[in-house]
Amino acid sequence: MTRQFELKELIRSDNFIDGQWCAAADGARFAVSDPATGTVITQVADSSPADARAATDAAARAAPAWRNLLPKERATILHKWNALIVANQDALGALISLEQGKPLAEGRGEVAYGASYVAWFADEATRIYGDIIPQQQRGKRMTAAKEPVGIVAAITPWNFPLAMIARKIAPALAAGCTVVAKPAEDTPLTASALVLLAHEAGVPAGVLNLITASRDHAVATVADWLEDSRVRKITFTGSTPVGKYLARESAGTLKKLSLELGGNAPFIVFDDADLDAAVTGLLASKFRNGGQTCVCPNRVYVQAGVYDKFADMLSRRVAELKVAPATDPDAQIGPMINIRALDKIARHVDDALAHGARVLAGGKRLPELGPNYYAPTVLADANHEMLLCGEETFGPVVPLFRFDDEPEAIEAANNTPFGLASYFYSQDLRRIDRVSRALEAGIVGINEGALSSEAAPFGGVKESGYGREGSKYGLDDYLSIKYLCQGNLA
Ligand code: ADP
Repeated sequence: MTRQFELKELIRSDNFIDGQWCAAADGARFAVSDPATGTVITQVADSSPADARAATDAAARAAPAWRNLLPKERATILHKWNALIVANQDALGALISLEQGKPLAEGRGEVAYGASYVAWFADEATRIYGDIIPQQQRGKRMTAAKEPVGIVAAITPWNFPLAMIARKIAPALAAGCTVVAKPAEDTPLTASALVLLAHEAGVPAGVLNLITASRDHAVATVADWLEDSRVRKITFTGSTPVGKYLARESAGTLKKLSLELGGNAPFIVFDDADLDAAVTGLLASKFRNGGQTCVCPNRVYVQAGVYDKFADMLSRRVAELKVAPATDPDAQIGPMINIRALDKIARHVDDALAHGARVLAGGKRLPELGPNYYAPTVLADANHEMLLCGEETFGPVVPLFRFDDEPEAIEAANNTPFGLASYFYSQDLRRIDRVSRALEAGIVGINEGALSSEAAPFGGVKESGYGREGSKYGLDDYLSIKYLCQGNLA
């Protein structure tokens, strides 16, 4: 029977090292709070480098036995983990909503989404093929075999507290790597719950270790992994400056890196688009998690001929979105993660207004709901002088830019150092072909706003990073190729 846990049983406050829950070595703790109310949920371990070192020691001890399991034995454990996550969808979804703020339906959706990566990589574990290289010389056999890269350090953000860490841990374990992980300081509880379920599923002691740390402690703590030559890979999702820092600081031990960094996604609506579909797609992609996703459209370019109509259709729908705490079953937009996030949104909107934008919907904080709420917002007459054009707003704000022709739209869309997601709506097949090829992005949505899938390669180009998560490519980042050359055979 797959065990079901109560929400309170899933809330852990300690690190998980070598199969044991343990306080930080120096006993330090920091508070985790509900972004809807500011209420403290619990005090979790505030780790230091000693804890990071203990986690790496455990991962190193567990590595030989884990990599020597048969792939199907690892797959069986991962399938059990998936079954436990799915069986505990309600409690995990509630925990995500509690610490991160997203509406309950989205919290539950994230559980299913995160679990889908675990199931996917459980299957992929059994399909790690190498190559027999066609013979080049008599008496010589050449083979390319794939091996686990070694200990993996996973560092994750707060916006998808379950999915982001699941889609790093699952391929690492599938590949035969052991893991040390640090979730974001705002949302460590879901990650701990996930680790609890992994342990329950039979992941052996030391194979998966998790430490939590406040922002103040994170730098020195993670630095221990960056400098430790036993850690062979860093997998990170978060901001571009931190990704660059990790790349720089891990260069001393030349680790393999996967970096899923920031985006600044364009969303282009051409004159020939199906406008209803474009509005629906924009709502789905922009307002998921209140606009706090790295793939959500940050700049919406609308061709002049449909600009006013599209702006009108969109702002009517946006004005109807229900903003409420996650606990309200009708909530569509919850609180933002913290007051810093809210201040950034307000700064972007104020700056846009100062540069000539017009508010078509929202445009204000909602203090009557709590300190972290911002109204879903549509701004017309956006231009490239505005802060929100160059930086991710990471909130429920849609700026509408006007353009005249296709080359202008493509040039504007690509005029950013980032290249994660991009979207466009058009019904002209030739244009679809041209624009798909011209957009500088790792992910292109064509007449579609919901792109994520465990079966698809997720990742960016340019300063949005490198590496791919999910899909048949997702395991490569956790494997290295060993070339075996056998001679004197005949
Ligand atoms: P966000 O802006 O979404 O919070 P960050 O890139 O700041 O994104 O954080 C993502 C993850 O990286 C979090 O787990 C955070 O604790 C961690 N992090 C941030 N700065 C550092 C750092 N200097 N060293 C190690 N980890 C860091």
